[in-house]
Amino acid sequence: MATMEGLIRLVNALQKACTKLGDFGGDASLPTLWDSLPSVAVVGGQSSGKSSVLESIVGRDFLPRGSGIVTRRPLVLQLYKTEQGEQEYAEFLHLPNKRFTDFSLVRKEIQDETDKITGKSKQISPVPIQLSIYSPNVVNLTMIDLPGLTKVAVEGQPESIVQDIENLVRSYVEKPNCIILAITPANQDIATSDAIRLAREVDPAGERTFGVLTKLDLMDRGTNALEVLEGRSYRLQQPWVGVVNRSQADINRNVDMMDARRREREFFASSPDYGHLASKMGSEYLAKLLSRHLESVIKARIPAIASFIGRSIDGLESELDHLGRPVAIDAGAQLYTILELCRAFDRTFKEHLEGGRPGGDRIYGVFDHQLPGALRKIPFDRHLSIQNVRRVVSEADGYQPHLIAPEQGYRRLIDSSLNFFRGPAEASVDAVHHILKELVRKSIGETQV
Ligand code: GDP
Ligand code: MG
Repeated sequence: MATMEGLIRLVNALQKACTKLGDFGGDASLPTLWDSLPSVAVVGGQSSGKSSVLESIVGRDFLPRGSGIVTRRPLVLQLYKTEQGEQEYAEFLHLPNKRFTDFSLVRKEIQDETDKITGKSKQISPVPIQLSIYSPNVVNLTMIDLPGLTKVAVEGQPESIVQDIENLVRSYVEKPNCIILAITPANQDIATSDAIRLAREVDPAGERTFGVLTKLDLMDRGTNALEVLEGRSYRLQQPWVGVVNRSQADINRNVDMMDARRREREFFASSPDYGHLASKMGSEYLAKLLSRHLESVIKARIPAIASFIGRSIDGLESELDHLGRPVAIDAGAQLYTILELCRAFDRTFKEHLEGGRPGGDRIYGVFDHQLPGALRKIPFDRHLSIQNVRRVVSEADGYQPHLIAPEQGYRRLIDSSLNFFRGPAEASVDAVHHILKELVRKSIGETQV
């Protein structure tokens, strides 16, 4: 279990990185990491209770509410479970290091951030707001609150808004990794539910759709939602969950969220209709169900995520190879880089000289062909002919002929003979020097750290 929580944390962190890099899915032209990560999207008609469900899963009031279209940007909500007794706080990605402990300020910040992009108009924007909540009272989960589906544009809204919202919501729920939380109010006929209509379209087998019935307390007397909750009206692979959120009157009276949860539990436990389902109803059960499902989805997705990351790393590595590696900033690391470079150069140069890479063989050629060839051309037969030896010896003796051996003469003969070697020897040195310079240049080009 502990490793699973770590895993969800990892996925949450990856999702955060995606948003930071401007990768929030949506753009079908590029493969995105975002798309390989699972998340839960809350979908439903306006005022169906989406924000209420989200809030009761979190156990906190923090979402802007009011009549009409309130949620106008997707809200990516990451829940992190912390140790019992720890301070609860929220953090926005766009305001790093600012901890919100007053959740009414969170609501205000969401409103301000929404207005910043959409203006005060009733426009919607696909750019998500990212919010993390750290609390002992939540389970690890990533949820996305989306604008509510509508049927008609009202005063002040552009005509396209109905379609715009539908397209935005669809862009999230059509991803195969998206778990759909389809919210339908119980006091509305399931056949007219926008959430179920869209979910059925993108997930016909009902494999990743969780049906949630809100407002069970508002049903007409004498009616109940058992047909839906027991899966007879519309079948899904996952069980339907009924919830009772706070009514508008409760919100106006500031009914505490924990109180609301307790009242919800009581509602199911004491209900003649739903009593037998009580252990599988309510927001807390929904949160657990979702978390468990998310875990199994992530487990199944790990190989795909790992291979996606692997491929991205390979791509970036080869781009780095192409652009050149960044040089370290501090002196120690720079020295290390230089030494590494020297060592690598040394290795390459040695290979050129000693074999493995071409070059050393040409040096051998200088001594094996060029030098002996030149030496063979030296005219020693002429230089050491008997006439020449005699001439050199008698010139060296001067007016005092030698008595035993013509030492002076021999010395001159040796000196002048050695002079013949100078030319070919110097030519060989030049040739080797030239080859070595060429090899150094080549080795520098081939040196890789
Ligand atoms: P959203 O537009 O889908 O986000 O819906 P909200 O969560 O803002 O809810 C719309 C209204 O319905 C609010 O006044 C809520 O208090 C009310 N509401 C939501 N769920 C329930 C419920 O289960 N029971 C009752 N009585 N009222 C609810
Ligand atoms: Mg809402």
